[in-house]
Amino acid sequence: MTVSTLERSHRRVAVRESTNPYENALHQLEIAARHLELDPGMHEILKYPQREITVHFPVKLDNGTTRIFTGYRVQHNLARGPSKGGIRYSPKTDLDEVRALAMWMTWKSAIVNIPFGGAKGGVLCDPKVMSMGELERLTRRYATEISILIGPETDIPAPDVNTNPQVMAWIMDTYSMHRGSTVPAVVTGKPVSIGGSEGRVEATGRGIAIIASEAANQMGIPMAGASVVIQGFGNVGSIAARSFYERGAKVIAVSDAIGGLWNPNGLDIPALLECSHRDGTLTTHKGGEPITNEELLELPCDILVPAAIENQITTANAHRIQARIIIEGANGPTTPAADRILYDRGIFLVPDVLANAGGVVVSYFEWVQDLQSFFWEEAEVNKRMEQMMVRAYKSVADIALRKELDMRTAAYMIGVKRVADAATTRGIYP
Ligand code: NAD
Repeated sequence: MTVSTLERSHRRVAVRESTNPYENALHQLEIAARHLELDPGMHEILKYPQREITVHFPVKLDNGTTRIFTGYRVQHNLARGPSKGGIRYSPKTDLDEVRALAMWMTWKSAIVNIPFGGAKGGVLCDPKVMSMGELERLTRRYATEISILIGPETDIPAPDVNTNPQVMAWIMDTYSMHRGSTVPAVVTGKPVSIGGSEGRVEATGRGIAIIASEAANQMGIPMAGASVVIQGFGNVGSIAARSFYERGAKVIAVSDAIGGLWNPNGLDIPALLECSHRDGTLTTHKGGEPITNEELLELPCDILVPAAIENQITTANAHRIQARIIIEGANGPTTPAADRILYDRGIFLVPDVLANAGGVVVSYFEWVQDLQSFFWEEAEVNKRMEQMMVRAYKSVADIALRKELDMRTAAYMIGVKRVADAATTRGIYP
């Protein structure tokens, strides 16, 4: 791709390096809006979250003291259905991060064509230094504070960074206690024993390997033997590593927040998974050289999967990335300015709103199963998820090829248009 093609694809939207995720999300929307020749009024509507609340609430700590915590829930858009999106626990989250994540959920649900809008939640806390009892009390009180927004027909949370099926179980139980009856469909990503779906825990990571196979195929790279680097070894990164390993790819480096491991001959992923479950860290595994997160991102490889947090590929390192394909497992790992550098350098990037949508697809299946009280076999879940992911990939890749666009802009063209069409058809109330 030439610079002039890139300029055309981005419709000359001026790009400024920013690590504010909401600014970046607005920038991505602006590119799509110009390309779609979106009505300015509709563009204005889509820039803003429809609803957002900030809650401050007390939690009793184990040492007998009480601490005030701050949390958020943002619903970006509900034109296509109830809003859907995870909840993250992080000492660094803030309202702009949650706004961006909510907006990205709107586009993601629309790109894979499921009947949801987008939402996200966050609580400012460091779960690594909290006991299970403290986390349970924090979760139950946060769930109570946001219960004016959430519900199976309004807004359905799911796990994200530092939350898991147990946290979803506490939210489901708290909401159900207030209602006086069990309401499984209020959250997804629950344990299977209380109405979770088979295959949900693995869905995002599996979906990433499915999308990576499509991208590798398009680029003429055989998956068997392809070298893969993965940043983040949590729910998304660790399952993606396993899925790549099962597909015969060679996972040569992985990392978590502390650091990474590198072995150019391929890491023993089953042993690493066992080590991370047993010790809570990768560093006790002996089958690789230690490597920093910065070094890991710049390793030569066929496929790079950033699967940790935002702003990992920026103008500071985009010139040094040596991957042929980037599959965004995390939300917002690449800044818009870095996007342009990668694009100019011919690196094929599949954006978060498509690449990590396997989680929301199976969350949709979980919600459907809960509403019907009729549960599917895992093979059925996986088959349907793969069908939806491949279909979404093909439609995005088709637009990207036909219009000579990068994959993010092509994905946004589909997602933003579907949301704008729904909002236009419904009209502005009253
Ligand atoms: P997680 O909490 O299970 O794992 C996060 C991983 O990232 C951990 O290994 C952690 O050590 C690592 N990490 C944290 N900070 C880091 C840093 N500064 N450098 C390197 N590694 C770091 O979270 P997750 O659910 O796997 O989510 C990861 C990303 O994927 C997030 O961006 C999230 O929004 C996105 N995502 C998650 C899902 C899902 O279903 N869980 C779905 C779609 C997208």
